[in-house]
Amino acid sequence: MVEQVGYLSRRRKHGEPMLRVVHGWCVFYHQGCTLQRVGQALGNKFAFKPLACALFPLNRRGRGSWYVRQKGYEGELWDLCCLAPAPDTPLAAKTLREEFALAARLR
Ligand code: SF4
Repeated sequence: MVEQVGYLSRRRKHGEPMLRVVHGWCVFYHQGCTLQRVGQALGNKFAFKPLACALFPLNRRGRGSWYVRQKGYEGELWDLCCLAPAPDTPLAAKTLREEFALAARLR
């Protein structure tokens, strides 16, 4: 699919083009994010990921203000298991340190 028509779709979100999805899956998904694995192999897991993917599950609330997307919070509609923390889910403050650092650089 990528070779035939490219990895960007005609859909846009916040003015930016979105990645192509085939049968409900991003074209870069293969047992996890291929772009992340390539970046990790080169020492930076965010090097090739689109910014929205690199920041997930952080969402910008306003200038310099971010929150962690969670089911039922701030109108979150996406029904993903990773957005529905359980009592034993590790705290985002520990697991999202790299994402917080990336968001802090964006201000
Ligand atoms: S993190 Fe982004 S680029 Fe990677 S597989 Fe998921 S949607 Fe695709």
